[in-house]
Amino acid sequence: MTSDPRDIDVDLGPLARRARRSLNGDHAGELGVVLPPFLDHHVHVEMTLPEQAVAGGIAGVVDLGANPAVVAAWAAREGLPRVRYAGAFLTAIGGYPSDRPWLREGSLRELPAVETGADDAPRQERTALPGPVDSAVDEQQAFGASVVKVVLNADAGPVFDRSTLDAIVAAAHAHGLPVAVHAEGEGCAALSVEVGADALVHTPWTERLDDALIARAAAGQVWISTLAIHARDFGDDSAELACAVDNLARFRAAGGRVLYGTDLGNGEQPIGVNAGELALLARAGLAASELVAALIDPWPLAARDTWALDGVATFVPGDPPTSPDSLPDWLANARVVPADDLELL
Ligand SMILES: [Zn+2]
Repeated sequence: MTSDPRDIDVDLGPLARRARRSLNGDHAGELGVVLPPFLDHHVHVEMTLPEQAVAGGIAGVVDLGANPAVVAAWAAREGLPRVRYAGAFLTAIGGYPSDRPWLREGSLRELPAVETGADDAPRQERTALPGPVDSAVDEQQAFGASVVKVVLNADAGPVFDRSTLDAIVAAAHAHGLPVAVHAEGEGCAALSVEVGADALVHTPWTERLDDALIARAAAGQVWISTLAIHARDFGDDSAELACAVDNLARFRAAGGRVLYGTDLGNGEQPIGVNAGELALLARAGLAASELVAALIDPWPLAARDTWALDGVATFVPGDPPTSPDSLPDWLANARVVPADDLELL
């Protein structure tokens, strides 16, 4: 009995196919695996060279904090990577990252707390004008944002109170935009869950989330991994990385949806598919098919076909290794290729 040559020994999910590169293009006749386009769900295009990520296998990126005019211009360009974005960071007045040297001009909106003590004022007086929250969310949407980014860093300045967060989430959801939160410091991840935020832009690393909170997060949020920056900043055997891996492992086990993201633009790191990030996702328990799912998830869009990536595919040369330890390095050989350049086997 011979095995079907289309079979792949490792379960890479339902969309993986064996393929051969056409005889007309580069690497004629090379055998490998075709997958949907890979996305990095957390980057900052103003602080990196996103076109280099394309050479490293990334076809689309989600910018999570930029000058909205600059990132909109980036996204309007022809070619790859396709860029979806949040626009500006929304934070409390004086909140993180207002004092950071890396902050790009026009990339931050500091918002005052929503007034909640005026319940005895005439209703019209309270609702006649859009407040700063609505204006800030409207502005990001006017620039074409697909998601609203909120910063809650209790370790580095003031954070929004519950009422202001509720107003931000309501304004974003009224526009059909998900809310993605940077949660750092005690209670910030819990607050993001309580207000119905849709995503965390980093796996929480500053505190262990208890199982009940993890279960609520898994039911309502997606988490963007960014584990490799914790390994870089604190060390591979650090308490911070162990905390993040433990939180993510329990989030995954509770059915949470995990997205591949690197925070590209945040300091030195490999450009393109990051084998280190994938290895840490595997450490958190993700199987091969889950690594692929994290790379091809269309978030913050509802579906892959709205990314305007028709016509491109991911090609990974060779057979996937049967040893899980070798899988991250194999996936990091991914190339973005024209789909027409591939012949399915
Ligand atoms: Zn970031």
